[in-house]
Amino acid sequence: MSAQDRTLDPQDWEAFRTLARRMVDDMVDHLATLAEQPAWQPMPERVLHSFDAAAPQEGIGEEAVYQRFLEDVLPYPNGNLHPRFFGWVQGNGTPLGMMADMLAAGMNPHMAGFNQAPVLVEEQTIRWMAELMDFPPGADGILVGGGSSANMLGLALARNEGIAADVRTTGVRGADRPVAIYASTETHGWIAKAAELLGLGRAACRAVAVGDDYRIDTDALKQAIARDRADGIDPICVIGTAGTVNTGATDDLPALAQICRDEKLWFHIDGAFGALAAWSPELKPIVAGLEQADSVAFDLHKWAYLPFTVACLLVRDGGVLTRSFASRAHYLAETDRGVAAGGMRFADRGVELTREFRALKLWMNLKAYGVRAFGDLILQNVEQARSLAGRVEAHAELELLAPVPLNIVCFRYCTGADRDDAFWNRVNGELLLRMQETGVAVPSSTVLDGRFAIRCCFVNHRTRASDIDLLVAAAVDIGRAVTAEMEG
Ligand SMILES: *Cc1c(COP(=O)(O)O)cnc(C)c1O
Repeated sequence: MSAQDRTLDPQDWEAFRTLARRMVDDMVDHLATLAEQPAWQPMPERVLHSFDAAAPQEGIGEEAVYQRFLEDVLPYPNGNLHPRFFGWVQGNGTPLGMMADMLAAGMNPHMAGFNQAPVLVEEQTIRWMAELMDFPPGADGILVGGGSSANMLGLALARNEGIAADVRTTGVRGADRPVAIYASTETHGWIAKAAELLGLGRAACRAVAVGDDYRIDTDALKQAIARDRADGIDPICVIGTAGTVNTGATDDLPALAQICRDEKLWFHIDGAFGALAAWSPELKPIVAGLEQADSVAFDLHKWAYLPFTVACLLVRDGGVLTRSFASRAHYLAETDRGVAAGGMRFADRGVELTREFRALKLWMNLKAYGVRAFGDLILQNVEQARSLAGRVEAHAELELLAPVPLNIVCFRYCTGADRDDAFWNRVNGELLLRMQETGVAVPSSTVLDGRFAIRCCFVNHRTRASDIDLLVAAAVDIGRAVTAEMEG
């Protein structure tokens, strides 16, 4: 073979087809038997060290590398697909979503824009997202890699529309004053990263107190804004959360919207998972006010059950995206016919130029199952959380540690007040690790008012009522054993 004939396409397409079919069969088997697998298992030493080798100069071939995947990678995920994975807020994926990702990678379109059907697929999914969140005509958005990125874009818009308004119109920054952004103490960690990256600095973030229900204290917010104004600091943005990570609390969104209108501030909502409650007619009232935001960020790889990664930023006024992000490079110029007709519409709405075809899995899943099926699953998860909370409250040895307004339950094993919180914190810390290591279930943890909480988040379309039975039984059994050991 001469040098210019080299390619990474297979030499023998039939052999590749056979291997590809085996891959599909194996993954379908894997998904079909998840419930029989442990929720998590630690990696043996051999597997841990299999990743130490240097870059391979010579290849081992497709079959051999697939074998390495089957033995060293596939059996050792963190468990997020499993019906009894309740940790953090991690999605699980759908089998159709898996295949859609394969089709997307096979087609491999460059999603900056261009005159191509995949771009229309993304445009359509964004219109659907706007419709489902009750955003007005003129709204727009973009699909990105996750809630962190979507939130950061939202904050970038808030900054650009706020402090840079004078720069845009006059070319000079008029008031060179410090700025402030406001969000509750329960806001997710993306905010610190975004504030740093956007050059606002962490010092610009005001952490506003929450009430007993873990929702932002709107009086404290108003006072903080007034204090900053009096000190010559420019407030630019209020960030509300629909569904906090710790307890699933949703801020009083209509009240925040009103404060933002009164104070002329950008209203951004982090609805990473909580915004999806809007897809269920029964749950939609919980996130009322979402539609009043200037921008809202939410994941589709969490509570819409799609494979990683896909999230959405919606903005009420579509023009703000291109105002902030459109670039005018000659090599990206739009034409009125041909491949570049329509321009770089997505590159012009965000940070990424080359983008993956994330929209396909969203488009295919929504078309195949319908929004109603997703709304019903989201409701099922909330009912599962309520059921677990009820079981915890009814059990003498379990204690509920926070209200359950949505899909997150924080509880602990605790038999009484004769021992202090430090003791129960040790018991529950050990309980959690044993539950994970035995592969029964994977909750995560948090600390609420100094109490270590076992935290169960329901965003899994595979969880069944029987999984909650197993979880409760394991919490009580392990809790008793650990308490006995620590007392003895
Ligand atoms: C998960 C989460 C994020 C971050 O989203 P990623 O998709 O993980 O980047 C932000 N906010 C909240 C409330 C979350 O639950």
